Amino acid sequence: MKVLKFGGTSVGSAQRIKEVAKLITDGEQKIVVLSAMSGTTNTLVEISDYLYKKNPEGANEIINKLEHTYRKHIDELFATAEYKQKALEMIKSHFDYIRAFTKDLFTLFEEKVILAQGELVSTALMNYYLQECGASSVLLPALDYMRTDKNAEPDPGYIKDKLQLQLELHPGVEIYITQGYICRNAYGEIDNLQRGGSDYTASLIGAAIDASEIQIWTDIDGMHNNDPRIVESTTPVRQLHFEEAAELAYFGAKILHPTCIQPAKYANIPVRLLNTMEPTAPGTMISNDTEKGKIKAVAAKDNITAIKIKSSRMLLAHGFLRKVFEIFESYQTSIDMICTSEVGVSVSIDNTKHLNEILDDLKKYGTVTVDKNMCIVCVVGDLEWENVGFEAKTLDALKDIPVRMISYGGSNYNISFLIRECDKKAALQSLSKELFDNK
Ligand code: ADP
Ligand code: ASP
Ligand code: MG
Repeated sequence: MKVLKFGGTSVGSAQRIKEVAKLITDGEQKIVVLSAMSGTTNTLVEISDYLYKKNPEGANEIINKLEHTYRKHIDELFATAEYKQKALEMIKSHFDYIRAFTKDLFTLFEEKVILAQGELVSTALMNYYLQECGASSVLLPALDYMRTDKNAEPDPGYIKDKLQLQLELHPGVEIYITQGYICRNAYGEIDNLQRGGSDYTASLIGAAIDASEIQIWTDIDGMHNNDPRIVESTTPVRQLHFEEAAELAYFGAKILHPTCIQPAKYANIPVRLLNTMEPTAPGTMISNDTEKGKIKAVAAKDNITAIKIKSSRMLLAHGFLRKVFEIFESYQTSIDMICTSEVGVSVSIDNTKHLNEILDDLKKYGTVTVDKNMCIVCVVGDLEWENVGFEAKTLDALKDIPVRMISYGGSNYNISFLIRECDKKAALQSLSKELFDNK
């Protein structure tokens, strides 16, 4: 059985829901994972913000506006009075539920419950629509099988058993619709797999049922060899190794969530990225195969801060790096890139919440300098160290751009550069020309 995930953009309007419905009614049995309709989760976050700030009027205004949007979707989506009525009642109950939270104490627990409503609604709408069309479909409630353990990690054994039970309740159904992103935690409370987590849901389900394929459907044509919003002549990448996809996902190619790769990779289930706007295009196949000697793609990540710690005490001293890393660890700030010399170390971070405290602590160990508004550009492909020429090629493409850090050798699949954000466009265009033109 295949698992198909459709993101928020793919179910973002009544029209899009109809198109997805057409795509999934092909007679084959499948599990379909849906995100909330696009913009919904952000709006639910906004509602929660107002409630944290004890402003129920602010929250209510947004709740009413969102409910109104859904009423319009329903009007457009359903043809029969019967299903319109069913859907309107469903929407009303979800929004009344959200409104109930404007009266009481608001904590993280209540926020998670509110955030779960987006996927609960999108899947219910799709299921009603399929039924109105006469398709064979049923809802699998994610809150009954998707679960994290005490370390907030998905619990594969539990997921597998409970999902199996859910499937056995509805044998012979063609389309099993389920919610991405939402789950329960080890205490049975409603929780989620972090923003963008619907891809993770699809991957976990794929591993749990030993799916033949996991398909991630979005609104662009698979992974591109460069960012199509910046570089004109990008082409879709047809095949990627899981590790290459992981590098790209971390460094900005947002069409696949990084967490989704691990379960599929370990279960050796291919992940295919497909385009809802062009369903017959081949998309991108991600598997455990490597294409030898090939550079696949370039990706970039903005809002990076570089920190340099220079110290003569580092010279011939052991334990210096540990002290530096411990400071970042104590502020739960993860380091993306790292470069060292005999007298200094540079690191990059993307979370600057505790930057001032980190800098204060680092100053105990050396002279600290900070560069903000930087950008990581990462080149991905079969970059095993014995292959020659790739470093030269990428460096040559960046010869006119000031490069703050270079990281190579951390994995077999990537070389990363830290540059100024203002140079990103030029860097991506030049790399595209050097690495992909006429090849
Ligand atoms: P989905 O709902 O399918 O998960 P999202 O709502 O997460 O999609 O939004 C992803 C959107 O961001 C897509 O519309 C895509 O066009 C755009 N996007 C973000 N980063 C990139 C990138 N590096 N390359 C191409 N498109 C991107
Ligand atoms: N709806 C959630 C979000 O916007 C999960 C997802 O779309 O993957 O983050
Ligand atoms: Mg998404």
